[in-house]
Amino acid sequence: MTEDNTAPIIEFSNVAKRFGPLTVLDDFNFNVRKGEKVTLIGPSGSGKSTVLRILMTLEPFQDGKLTLSGMSYHEPNGKGPFKASERHLRQIRTHVGMVFQSFNLFPHMTVLRNVVEAPLRVLGIARAEAECRALQLLDMVGLADKKDFYPSQLSGGQQQRVAIARALAMRPRVLLFDEPTSALDPQLVGEVLSVIRGLAHEHDLTMLLVTHEMRFAREVSDRVCFFDKGRICEQGAPDEIFGAPREARTREFLSSVL
Ligand code: ADP
Ligand code: MG
Repeated sequence: MTEDNTAPIIEFSNVAKRFGPLTVLDDFNFNVRKGEKVTLIGPSGSGKSTVLRILMTLEPFQDGKLTLSGMSYHEPNGKGPFKASERHLRQIRTHVGMVFQSFNLFPHMTVLRNVVEAPLRVLGIARAEAECRALQLLDMVGLADKKDFYPSQLSGGQQQRVAIARALAMRPRVLLFDEPTSALDPQLVGEVLSVIRGLAHEHDLTMLLVTHEMRFAREVSDRVCFFDKGRICEQGAPDEIFGAPREARTREFLSSVL
């Protein structure tokens, strides 16, 4: 079977997301193609994290449809074949990895165990193979020598690099980053961005990144989406969005952060 590389790997169709009376996403439509590197920028509270959390199946939504890697889920209006079962959600989750602002490593596990745990338990990979792959990934992020350390013994930048290795250990097709450098001291930002920059060269990996690092976004993205109040207000190539934004809201936002 040949894969259609032009078909979107992520497809939000008319998605609505509410928290009680607060509507965060309303009739939200958004596609990402396989291998595309897309950055979401926009003011705090505009719904960027919610989009990533829905993709990671951490948040349910109230209406519309999400398709990921050809698997659709949550069609509560009864238009589709199912409302996602736990099993189906688990299956979707194995295609997506997420790196959070706050690292979220398991504090009681060594660096190596943090990386091998999910492949062992969720994918059922044999320990020797999982450890071999974990060491390769730790080497890639420059931390093989820290494999027996605990998270509390590492700097924030090192912890975030472990978190990236951990996400990659599941061999995700889609990697989500939610402000991966926002919690870091300024001198530690560069080492994390340089790991993400390396991943951005991986042709097959689809990346969706929320960041306030505008220079970095301009450098690594195929497409930048300016997000405001739950909508994509403007999107385009990085040079268009940063060099010649069309919308007044985009210009206003960029002048506040650049
Ligand atoms: P961003 O990542 O762009 O800063 P978020 O997606 O985190 O925005 O939040 C969008 C809106 O949803 C905000 O108004 C936020 O307060 C609200 N929100 C997010 N998570 C919850 C939650 N669990 N319960 C209630 N409101 C939430
Ligand atoms: Mg956020």
